[in-house]
Amino acid sequence: MSESQDAVPRRTFLKAAFGIGTSILVGGLELRFAPVIEAAVASPTIANCDTWGAAPSTEPITVLSTKPNKILVHHMANANTTDYSLTHAYQMARNCQQSHFNRGWIDTGQQFTISRGGYVMEGRHRSLEVLRGGTQHVRGAHCDGQNDVAIGIENEGTYTSAQPPAALYNQLVALCAYICQQYNIPSREIYGHRDFNATQCPGDQLYALLPKLRSDVAARIGDGGGNPIVWPIVQRGQSGERVKTVQYLLRARGNTLTPDGVFGTGTETAVKSFQTSQSITADGVVGAATWEVLILTVRRGDINEAVKAVQSQLVSKGYSVTVDGNFGAGTETAVKSFQTSRGLTTDGVVGKNTWNALVS
Ligand SMILES: [Zn+2]
Repeated sequence: MSESQDAVPRRTFLKAAFGIGTSILVGGLELRFAPVIEAAVASPTIANCDTWGAAPSTEPITVLSTKPNKILVHHMANANTTDYSLTHAYQMARNCQQSHFNRGWIDTGQQFTISRGGYVMEGRHRSLEVLRGGTQHVRGAHCDGQNDVAIGIENEGTYTSAQPPAALYNQLVALCAYICQQYNIPSREIYGHRDFNATQCPGDQLYALLPKLRSDVAARIGDGGGNPIVWPIVQRGQSGERVKTVQYLLRARGNTLTPDGVFGTGTETAVKSFQTSQSITADGVVGAATWEVLILTVRRGDINEAVKAVQSQLVSKGYSVTVDGNFGAGTETAVKSFQTSRGLTTDGVVGKNTWNALVS
């Protein structure tokens, strides 16, 4: 059965408030009004753990004092049921929690779950209250290397060949928009599980919908959209500046390998060891999951091996800087010039976006 996505109307609130703002005289009667356009995104209805009958977590939930920086979309790889009822949704959430207990996890792995009928539920305990607060993050168990920074949404069903039902998709848009608003996450920071781990999740069909999802969320929160960050794959057998960057960054973590720009067994071993230390699958391949924890934000005044990586990249792009690991005025000027050339915020600080542009 072919199921299409309904167009989502842009949700903008137009309020006419009396008593503030402009006043005009109409036939001697003074009218005061102020049209206020708010970008506020309302939360979809989200059933908390008590409502759907969750069992208690087996250990206390970890709540981090940092905000998440992205959303990861999953499919549950379970049946594409045609039971769209609330009763079914709650049973499915309980089944999911039980299967995650069976994996040895302390609770449901993801922060939120959406049923095929379009019911949105809290996954891991405390996820909803923490989302409402907008300043903290519940550590999940849904994606290696990303659990401290990503909110996971599990979508009931299997979307390798089937399309998600409109009811589910519409609630996914609503939930993502609300999460983005609560944490000020850009709409382009919505990814599929496969962008970070070796998995088919969330299935080819749901994965193919992510550009539409980002643009539908962008329309709701009004952040202008944009493309997601894509990291290059760096692995054994390659050579060049990108490899050198990986080597400098590994050195910044205490490794002593030679930054020769050649990805041999020594570099592979160092990558695997770093991946293990970060609880990422130790495959020796530097992809998105590894890049995101390997990069270090550097700025003027910093002196380290990560600065050398930046300087070496800048030299390879024609900038005249010395590769000495000392982030001084000359390096800052070159970084700003590079940022301007790539349409990035020209702040001279090498963070995620600038690192990505340097190695892409
Ligand atoms: Zn997944």
